[in-house]
Amino acid sequence: MAAELISGTQIRQTILKELGKDVEAMRQKYGKVPGLVTILVGDNPASVSYVTLKVRTALELGFHEIQDSQPADISEEALLALIARYNADPDIHGILVQLPLPPHIDATKVLYAIDPDKDVDGFHPLNLGRLLIGGDAVRFLPCTPAGIQELLVRSNTPLEGAEVVVVGRSNIVGKPLAVMLGQKGPGANATVTLAHTRTRNLADHCRRADVLVVAAGVPGLVKTDWIKPGATVIDVGVNRIGFNPETGKAILSGDVDFERAKEVAGKITPVPGGVGPMTIAMLMKNTVRSAWSYLEQR
Ligand code: NAD
Repeated sequence: MAAELISGTQIRQTILKELGKDVEAMRQKYGKVPGLVTILVGDNPASVSYVTLKVRTALELGFHEIQDSQPADISEEALLALIARYNADPDIHGILVQLPLPPHIDATKVLYAIDPDKDVDGFHPLNLGRLLIGGDAVRFLPCTPAGIQELLVRSNTPLEGAEVVVVGRSNIVGKPLAVMLGQKGPGANATVTLAHTRTRNLADHCRRADVLVVAAGVPGLVKTDWIKPGATVIDVGVNRIGFNPETGKAILSGDVDFERAKEVAGKITPVPGGVGPMTIAMLMKNTVRSAWSYLEQR
């Protein structure tokens, strides 16, 4: 039986529509809109394309959007000064520095310089600490894990008491997601296993999962017989496995063999069109949240 498709593309549209209404309500109430600055250093083609998408989405939602492009040889000091300026700007509610940064700049130092109240990527240690505490302490959820949680909730995937296995323990995907799904509260309350390169018997762990999230960056890592029949499979991996000369675009594959896995899984995300579209939507959601909280506190 073919699995139900969890379409990130569709769910993203619903979320952006909700956010559009929220922005309009803000404009009516305060005469203000959310302000987002995207700082791009250099011209790495992948970064340019991510930033372009972010800027386009922000403009579609009616944000005050600044795309601040800086040369690849900008000094760390100058970049920190730029961030300090946006930290102090009352019309900017979200600051995003596109990674990777050139090697002469300490990315950690730069990310930690962002005002945690404007850290819409959710990478600042203060926001990660708040995430760990959970409940009302949470301010910004990192965008990709937040997108995955939305996909699970909006596809009515039961999480309460569910066995969730997350493969991959990066700071931007696996680790925060494992914490989020194990928290007390709606859209969570799961029993989470965090698997990684040192995990013994990875296949056995995966076979126990009611919800299997794979964020390893290894094409075809999860075999069909690792999936419990009826499980929900979220494939976070984005792997460039070739190049299509006709479209001029990279051929992408996830960490799961989608065509075969969909015969076993109950629900599954495609690559592309699954987790990918959600990440930018969550960035927009964080910026709207940040703007509301700033305007309501004034
Ligand atoms: P990462 O390289 O920082 O981390 C990968 C993790 O997977 C590591 O913790 C590692 O221990 C684990 N891992 C790797 N190989 C493994 C194996 N054979 N068995 C078990 N565990 C293994 O990667 P990341 O930044 O978390 O990204 C993971 C994947 O998700 C990549 O393909 C990336 O492109 C994709 N990604 C997609 C989005 C999106 O918006 N769709 C966002 C972030 C990352």
